[in-house]
Amino acid sequence: MTEAQHTTILIPGWMNDHTAERLDKTYRVLRIDSADAALLPAREVAKIRGIASAGRIDSRFIDALPALEIIAHYGVGYDAVDSRHAAARGVVVTNTPDVLTEEVADTALGLLINTVRELPKAEAFVRAGKWVGDDEYPPSRLTLRERKVGIFGLGRIGLAVARRVEAFGLPVSYHNRSRVEGVSYAYHASLLELAEAVDTLISVAPGTPATDKAVNREVLAALGSDGVFINIGRGSTVDEEALIAALVDGTIAAAGLDVFASEPDVPQALLDLPNVCVLPHLGAASVHTRRAMGNLVADNLDQWFRVGAAKTPVPECVAVAGRG
Ligand code: NAP
Repeated sequence: MTEAQHTTILIPGWMNDHTAERLDKTYRVLRIDSADAALLPAREVAKIRGIASAGRIDSRFIDALPALEIIAHYGVGYDAVDSRHAAARGVVVTNTPDVLTEEVADTALGLLINTVRELPKAEAFVRAGKWVGDDEYPPSRLTLRERKVGIFGLGRIGLAVARRVEAFGLPVSYHNRSRVEGVSYAYHASLLELAEAVDTLISVAPGTPATDKAVNREVLAALGSDGVFINIGRGSTVDEEALIAALVDGTIAAAGLDVFASEPDVPQALLDLPNVCVLPHLGAASVHTRRAMGNLVADNLDQWFRVGAAKTPVPECVAVAGRG
């Protein structure tokens, strides 16, 4: 047996099949249904040195594992993991940046077009056998033409979205806490200022305490009655009640949502609205990209246990991420 085969890795809940197969070949893998300390077998608790997970890992769970060194999170957004607590405990948290950037940006543009040009509804019209004789699907009220696009969160994915929007011939501006060097897009120091300057807002911001419900009634109202809101970042960044109200009373024209405040529950009020396009959080969900994310989860564990350096530590954990 190799040393790695004596290293116990815990998979709490769902994990990508390819990642699980890779880990099974290298490590001693333990599985439980979810990251609940009550589900940990007592005789294993002191042996678990790594976690591969796609879900919530809270401070209690981290504290229940005295030998824990690394949490390899499947996904670039790691709001489900208490990374500050992990860092304080000397545990490194890794995520899966870059490998999903282009896929998520593709999805964002697809969602934008579907929302503005009503393509899913037009397809349903054909499938329902309604395209007969002179009956045509009505021209969409909204268009991408002459729109001004604002990006909330011009990071890796935001930049990939911006490049695509530019290729569509539309001007781009953005809001981050800090200005991005080397881009020509107009910067706005606040989200409200950005919303006032555009009619189409694409949120690619992470879910953090600072972004919680940042897209609120005021921000939505600033987009205007032709306004379109697209969310490919995190549901927590939006005040969902305010969004529903804005869509009902015409404060904005339409919304396209891949993410929701309380997934997988999507408020019925949103589903009932004709001016909303919904997706089941599938921004990165192609077999190709999920495999790349899964490989990065396993690579982080391998590199940690082989050379003591995580490959893609999250910013909060850089100080405990080893030799780099
Ligand atoms: P990233 O490179 O870290 O970009 C995040 C951007 O948000 C940065 O430009 C950051 O700029 C900005 N930001 C962070 N906090 C902010 C705040 N309080 N106010 C204003 N701007 C803020 O991350 P990424 O790889 O592009 O991923 C972005 C997010 O997309 C992830 O966190 C995840 O939630 C989401 N995502 C969704 C899917 C999906 O399937 N729908 C898939 C992947 C990722 P500053 O630091 O300068 O503020």
